[in-house]
Order: sequence, then structure tokens, then C-alpha cells
Amino acid sequence: MNFLEEKILADGRVYAGDILKVDSFINHRIDMDVMRQAACEFKRRYEGERVDKILTIEASGIAIAVMLANMYDVPVVFAKKAETANSTDDKYRSQAFSFTRKEMNDIVVSRPYISPGERILIVDDFLATGQAARALIDIVRQAGAEVVGLGMLVEKGQQEGGKSLRGDGYRVESIAIIDSMDHGTQTIRFRNHSAQ
Ligand code: 5GP
Repeated sequence: MNFLEEKILADGRVYAGDILKVDSFINHRIDMDVMRQAACEFKRRYEGERVDKILTIEASGIAIAVMLANMYDVPVVFAKKAETANSTDDKYRSQAFSFTRKEMNDIVVSRPYISPGERILIVDDFLATGQAARALIDIVRQAGAEVVGLGMLVEKGQQEGGKSLRGDGYRVESIAIIDSMDHGTQTIRFRNHSAQ
């Protein structure tokens, strides 16, 4: 078991509706040791790849994005969740249905912040249905930039996001991949990493 899987077993809680609560180290209080180790692990897995920018979505992806960008010494861009669907010329815009909030979010990135030809590494806290990741990929594509790959702290392998993204040829590196979790017994099972 790796550091994140151990932390999830120790401090994560399984909620009804297939939600893993990790507020005490990722989503509300941020554990710097976990973030540091996760950033090192992404850097190791993407070794040899040129990365010009780290892209994430507010708010929970920002911590790991900043840790990783610090190691590459490149900027972080975080997509913002916009309140309105008003179209403006100065922003790339996409949409993602939020699995946790059960609502459609418009997400935007100002055009000057991603340039054509840049190599973008996308990171986030969770990969579930893949909607947030797909919206970020869509924005990179609109900008004429290139997706190096995706780095996820926690992938819920029981949902289809990771499988579908890998099926489409994207490289997805997840530090903890959950295979199943049970609210009643609080049992969490992880996927063997060689089976990623
Ligand atoms: P997706 O778009 O892949 O369905 O969901 C990704 C986003 O939903 C992540 O950015 C994360 O904020 C949130 N999310 C999805 N599932 C969970 C979960 O089980 N626990 C937590 N804490 N966040 C989740």
C-alpha cells in the first residue's frame, strides 16, 4: 500500500452515494506531507515529459497543482467555475456535471493563460465520472495546446471516468485507485497498481 492509500484507510470516511470524504487531509484541511509525496510521485511518473503548465479546476485541485508546479517551476492555471453561461470572447469555456454537487458547472479559463503548442499536465483531487477532466481536456484542445496526461490523487475505479479516458488514449496516473468502497462496513479496497 502506498502513502495515500494508507492515509485514506486511516482518515477517509465512506459516505452514502459513493462519496469518499477526505476533508481532513485533502478537501478542507490540507496535509502538506501527503501533497509533497503526491507531487514527487507525479513528477517521477511523468519523468522525461516536457511540461509547460499545470492545469486544474478550483478549488480542491489547486493544492496538488501548486505543489507539482513548484517542482517543475511552471505556472498553475486553475479553471474557474463560472456563475453564468454568458459567452464571452476572452475565455475558453466548457461544461462539467458535478458528481458531488449534482449540478452543471460552466468552467472558464482566460484565453491568454493557455497558448497554442503548450504541453499541459492536468491534475485534480478526484477522478470519478471524468466530467471535470473532460472539461479541462476540452479547454486545452480549444487553446490548441497538448495534454501530456492526467494526474489524479484519488481515482474511484468503480466509476467509469478513468477507464473511458484511458480508452480514448489519455495517460491517466492516479496515486490511489479505489476498486470498491462500502458505506455500511467502511471497507475500502484498492486496485493493484500494476493493473492500472
Ligand atoms: P468527476 O467529474 O470525475 O465525476 O468528478 C471529479 C470532481 O468531483 C473532483 O474534482 C472532486 O472535487 C469531486 N468528487 C467526485 N467524487 C468525489 C468523492 O468521492 N469525494 C470527494 N471528496 N470529491 C469527489
